[in-house]
Amino acid sequence: MIERTLCILKPDAVSAGNTGNIIAHIQKEGFRILGLKMVALSGKAASKFYEVHKERPFYAGLVEFMSSGACVPIALEKENAIAEWRRVIGSTDPAEAADGTIRKLYAKNKGENAVHGSDSVENGLREIAFFFTEAELADLA
Ligand code: UDP
Ligand code: MG
Repeated sequence: MIERTLCILKPDAVSAGNTGNIIAHIQKEGFRILGLKMVALSGKAASKFYEVHKERPFYAGLVEFMSSGACVPIALEKENAIAEWRRVIGSTDPAEAADGTIRKLYAKNKGENAVHGSDSVENGLREIAFFFTEAELADLA
């Protein structure tokens, strides 16, 4: 099934100058880019985006990190995009991520781990709508 997922290049990846390399990696893996922008998330916006984790011990640090610098949300489409994108990015902790995955290549640690990936079709659509309007996802490319 053709699915959509949300990628976010997180502040560690953007500030380290890895934006171009990660976008090239995305395209090499055959994802279609439906929308892409650079944003500075406020603390409020980052809190809202990660609301599902609000009871977790890492929540405050995660919100602070995600609002610490520019992020690049990218709406992606592919056959089995949810599972495929999680395969391409690797485990949450780069120490456990497989060789060649984006997190293995670019992540610093479990918190500053270069990229986001949606965990279900439903959340992918919800997360894409958090950053992109329908008009921004029109068939442009
Ligand atoms: N995170 C963290 N410490 C943890 C687990 C997660 O800082 O012990 C951060 C990390 O940036 C991760 C995000 O919270 O990407 C969301 O966590 P999740 O378990 O959903 O991991 P993901 O789906 O991003 O692999
Ligand atoms: Mg997750």
